[in-house]
Amino acid sequence: MDNDDTLCPCGSGKDFEQCCKKEYDALNMARAKLKAAMKDPIRAQELKKLLKEHK
Ligand SMILES: [Zn+2]
Repeated sequence: MDNDDTLCPCGSGKDFEQCCKKEYDALNMARAKLKAAMKDPIRAQELKKLLKEHK
């Protein structure tokens, strides 16, 4: 059942690396950046402001 692990969870039937891996990586990177920014109080404030404006 190793093959199932490489299938993309979006249901396309494609290999994950050929399908949504880029988006997934981008999302992970965005999350990591957000996490890093939240450790910086000034940037965290800016982010909170930004998020509020987007709502
Ligand atoms: Zn996909």
